[in-house]
Amino acid sequence: MKTIEHWINGAATAAGSTRTAPVHDPATGAQQAAVLLAEPADVDSAVAAASKAFDSWGDSSLAQRTKVMFAFRELLVRHEDELARLISSEHGKVVDDARGEIVRGREVVEYACGIADALKGSFSDQVSRDVDVHNFRQPLGVVAGITPFNFPIMVPLWMHPIAIATGNTFVLKPSERDPSASAFVAELYAEAGLPEGVFNVVNGDKTAVDAILDHPDVAAVSFVGSTPVARYVHERATAGGKRVQALGGAKNHAVVLPDADLEFAADHLTAAAFGSAGQRCMAVSVGVAVGAAGDALVEVLERKAREVKVGPGQDPASDMGPVITRAARERVVAAVTQGAEQGATVVVDGRGVTVEGHEDGFFVGPTVLDRVTPDMAAYREEIFGPVLAIVRVDTVDEAIRVINDNPYGNGTAIFTAGGEAARRFQREVKVGMIGVNVPIPVPMSYYSFGGWKDSLIGDSPIHGPEGVRFYTRAKVVTTRWPHVTRSAEAAAFHFPTTG
Ligand code: NAD
Repeated sequence: MKTIEHWINGAATAAGSTRTAPVHDPATGAQQAAVLLAEPADVDSAVAAASKAFDSWGDSSLAQRTKVMFAFRELLVRHEDELARLISSEHGKVVDDARGEIVRGREVVEYACGIADALKGSFSDQVSRDVDVHNFRQPLGVVAGITPFNFPIMVPLWMHPIAIATGNTFVLKPSERDPSASAFVAELYAEAGLPEGVFNVVNGDKTAVDAILDHPDVAAVSFVGSTPVARYVHERATAGGKRVQALGGAKNHAVVLPDADLEFAADHLTAAAFGSAGQRCMAVSVGVAVGAAGDALVEVLERKAREVKVGPGQDPASDMGPVITRAARERVVAAVTQGAEQGATVVVDGRGVTVEGHEDGFFVGPTVLDRVTPDMAAYREEIFGPVLAIVRVDTVDEAIRVINDNPYGNGTAIFTAGGEAARRFQREVKVGMIGVNVPIPVPMSYYSFGGWKDSLIGDSPIHGPEGVRFYTRAKVVTTRWPHVTRSAEAAAFHFPTTG
């Protein structure tokens, strides 16, 4: 059986690791590989390699860094198909969906190709007599990324291209459930000409994460995953004086008004709820039907949910693959059962779905729960599976109130034909990313990604301009070259003022 190793100082290595975790093929339920789990000493080796590499990479020219990024981008294009299949085999998502996350992640590399523009400082001439001021930004040093299973290539790509293009060196701790994409990326970076030690991968679990959080030579930590772990990472790493960005879980609501095109809205809700088996941080997990939209919307959703073709991710006929683990499948099934017990109507029930020839796969079918109320567990908890809960309300104001009372605030959407409601919605809702007739409003790479409330711990969104700010710190320089032809200003004992 294949063993997935770490990537430290430009080469695959087992380092000192002996513990392993199984990596499954979720479509068959069978173990297909074992991933090494790093010990603190292995994290030390990766950080030491990154520290040494920073001596020269931190001093490299913008031209050298962008040359690597352009080459890396081309390699991601060339290997898109291979990478998409690799992701699908460990994650379970359909190959086209895996291709989608590669493309969206690649857009961050494209942003990093233009890092010279993003890093431009400013200059003020003659702020005082013979005095000028300019500012510029410098890299932090060794920075680390800790990432979730659901986007094994896109989420790490939100981090390392910007960190590396701004002159930092990087240690990635990907999800232990689907680690192979990160090993592949390490090889592509090497082929693109990135010097050894600039990008490192340590596979592992909580032991590796804690070693990163406590490491004195790690200057910053980027985390994406569930809210309890995001909170833990933020607390522990900031206690050690590190800069931290920590993105958490979600419960994304899509509001449907009676004036919306219901066929269009239901089509988008179905794709946004069940795509990737609901395992997206921007998946729509709650539909909020306003007034008369309710019965008609549920009727169309039921039809569309039944049409979703569940099957292995590698089969081009499948719309939706399995969930990531057997435990995840059991958790989703239990959440639906609890929802029914607490009074929700199970309109479409995916609990018993099996796929012929893949009876041991981690499949659960699209599920629609109607008449869910905010006090039910199926509403409050992030199920992270193909379950769409419908909450019925009477007015737009009530819909906004429901969303604002929810502890999460990652993404939300409104489906309507009217600008007045849409404008009010986007101004009043306490959510970071909003779609108007767009169900999954993931910002482009030249904006930044981040939710509000429990979906983002701390205050730092990811990638785009916020990413550049996160991975660099500013210096402001005040300069005077005393004028030879006129007497220099005398030093004063009072606090300097301009004149
Ligand atoms: P997770 O929190 O279980 O794991 C994320 C990372 O943390 C992994 O690398 C894992 O090894 C590590 N980890 C897990 N438990 C830990 C612990 N107790 N101590 C230290 N480290 C630990 O998340 P997941 O199940 O891999 O991913 C799904 C979650 O990620 C969902 O909650 C989803 O909403 C969220 N997510 C959020 C975003 C966003 O942008 N806000 C994006 C993608 C995923």
